[in-house]
Amino acid sequence: SRKKLIAGNWKMNKTSADGMALAREIVVEVGKLNDVEVVLCPPFTALEAVAKEIDGSQVKLGAQNMHPEPNGAFTGEISAPMLRALFATHVILGHSERRAYFAETDAFINEKVIAGLKHQLRPILCVGETLAEREAGDTLKVVQTQLEGGLAGTNKDQAASLVIAYEPVWAIGTGKVATSEQAQEVHAFIRGLLAKLYTEPVAQRMRILYGGSMKPANAAELLAQRDIDGGLIGGASLEARSFVELIKIAA
Ligand code: 13P
Repeated sequence: SRKKLIAGNWKMNKTSADGMALAREIVVEVGKLNDVEVVLCPPFTALEAVAKEIDGSQVKLGAQNMHPEPNGAFTGEISAPMLRALFATHVILGHSERRAYFAETDAFINEKVIAGLKHQLRPILCVGETLAEREAGDTLKVVQTQLEGGLAGTNKDQAASLVIAYEPVWAIGTGKVATSEQAQEVHAFIRGLLAKLYTEPVAQRMRILYGGSMKPANAAELLAQRDIDGGLIGGASLEARSFVELIKIAA
């Protein structure tokens, strides 16, 4: 069966000093845990400091975004080889905040997914509908478009390196969590799409994370769903106590 994965998306929070302190607490508490995979995704400016803190532990490092090109005249951008050089193993791609505030399209996100895989980074591809889309009955259609667009041109050998995160936009940072039934419905739909894109056995091995106001109080019920394989955590990943509690619930 699939090992649960708990990833902390710190978003635009924590200086490198604050990030070091948080990572240190997390390593002390859960750094040796083997039955759950833990990934910290600090801002770019804290990656190096956090990498040093988690060195020698089971905790892994991820970035929150990257540019598809390996180098060049892209002022202000960061590439996959740069992330690899800081010992990042994962990269969040297509987060709804990138889609909404930075106009990222499925085609651009797809370029990043391809580039991440090429440079041995594991993409955490985010998909999810807005409240208006859910209310219009378009949830599955939106998720399908984002998933097929983001994964275009990938093959079943690469699929082993991919993680999917279902993050309903209306649940992000709002305290409004999807019910376990709502989440499970979409997760099962995503796994079905992955089976069509790759193969059924490949889809069964892939992790599909839930994100959106996940916290210790609601995690157990979400993580008990058949197709929910972990969480992508925003707010509750910014404090050691709540994040560690989430990890222990998943373990
Ligand atoms: P919250 O946990 O703060 O709702 O954020 C979820 C998220 O966007 C993680 O990527």
